[in-house]
Amino acid sequence: MPRGEFDLIDEFFNRSPQRSDVLLAIGDDCALLEAPTSEVIALSVDTLVSGVHFFEDVPAKTLGHKSLAVNLSDLAATGAEPLWCTLALTLPEIDRHWLADFSDGFHALAHRSGIDLVGGDTTHGPLAITVHVMGRVPKGNALLRSGASPGDLIYVSGPIGGAGYALEFLRNPELKADAFCLKCLQEPDPRVTLGISLRGLASACIDISDGLAADLGHILSKSNVGATIHLEKIPVAPQVRAYMESIHNPGFPLCTGDDYELCFTVPPHHQSRIDAILESLNLDGGCIGQTTNEPGLSIQSQQGALYLNRSGYEHFR
Ligand SMILES: [Mg+2]
Repeated sequence: MPRGEFDLIDEFFNRSPQRSDVLLAIGDDCALLEAPTSEVIALSVDTLVSGVHFFEDVPAKTLGHKSLAVNLSDLAATGAEPLWCTLALTLPEIDRHWLADFSDGFHALAHRSGIDLVGGDTTHGPLAITVHVMGRVPKGNALLRSGASPGDLIYVSGPIGGAGYALEFLRNPELKADAFCLKCLQEPDPRVTLGISLRGLASACIDISDGLAADLGHILSKSNVGATIHLEKIPVAPQVRAYMESIHNPGFPLCTGDDYELCFTVPPHHQSRIDAILESLNLDGGCIGQTTNEPGLSIQSQQGALYLNRSGYEHFR
């Protein structure tokens, strides 16, 4: 992008840092950040591509929010406290209204989460957004996918399937649109405070980006355990429940992604503390099952056991 037009990061994204560990933010060749001395840095990056990860007509403000939220969700899943982020934007054209709205959505969540945008870049091309986040966590306290033991309880932090239902009604205008589900898809609330609260309590943790079954599956394979979960215990919003019933697919919330709730395991003796934490954070999550010695994911329901086929979890055995 020609210089003169391209200092868009400076123009739209340069705000005074809120953190005292940001010595120099946007505007020089590098940002200068004071490294934590007794903690480790948690680092993650995610790219959203137009037409692949979001619809082309999604409002810029919600896109600004979501591009940061999906990255904060990875910090949450690690139990890390957000520190700094960078933003790389590939833009098909310079639309100042779009940039102003995008930066509003991005900054509102950044401010709320205590993270500073310390650098960025813009290039010309099909719309794509890359955000890189850094956080900190005390040594030995990071939540990993690999720590679950047989007999641990499996929790999710909130209702699952809302984002998945929003994708369905955005594609099919005959379905009833729903504001709660649209918010789940477009403006997920990363569970950062919960992730930090789970340090020292959860044995393993992941954020649900690809679907509960797939993401829990990552914990199971990294931890070398299996699991049994109970379909009726998975928290689901009433409007999602109604949709599941209308399509006769009780396994719908297992396969839909983009919810950005946390899925975590805890030793049973921590159950009451976890329940108290969820309640204090106003989260409608709960225990959905337990890890086992037996490998694989077994899904139980009042109607019997559910098994996976090519089109999803929809058949009972
Ligand atoms: Mg993740």
